[in-house]
Amino acid sequence: MLEIIKWPDPILKKHSVVVPDINGEIDTLLTEMLEAMDRGKGVGLAGVQVGRLLRLFVAHVPNDMPRVFINPDILETSIEVEPFEEGCLSIPGIYTDVIRPSSVRVQAWNQKGRPFTLSAEGYLARVIQHEFDHLNGVVFLDRIDQKKKQRLLVEYEANVGA
Ligand code: ZN
Repeated sequence: MLEIIKWPDPILKKHSVVVPDINGEIDTLLTEMLEAMDRGKGVGLAGVQVGRLLRLFVAHVPNDMPRVFINPDILETSIEVEPFEEGCLSIPGIYTDVIRPSSVRVQAWNQKGRPFTLSAEGYLARVIQHEFDHLNGVVFLDRIDQKKKQRLLVEYEANVGA
């Protein structure tokens, strides 16, 4: 069973590398990541969060199917931005509004290695941007006011220390 890595593990700040090709190992990893995400009641999970520095993530938002993104590229983001409350399986118990583009167009491979392009808005657009950030060593708290980030991290440390 995959274990989800928690903040402040330094791996969360590392950049992930391109997946050269889809093999049985990657396929199994993605299936296990989908399970770990559901178990954690999360809506997204990136490879780095289970200790694999690979450019891939899974997402499953309400009223949508589970989705796999391998080697994703964000092709376009809307000019329009909006606040949306985010949390992270690697920083449990902390939730805060983050301002990001409302919609995105993303290109990636699916679990079979087939390329696709997807336009997403709302919850899914939000999860895609949050997970894509993980591939570049960025967490949602890096996207908010730094004073607020410090305050939330103090709260987090108090929670995990308890
Ligand atoms: Zn996250």
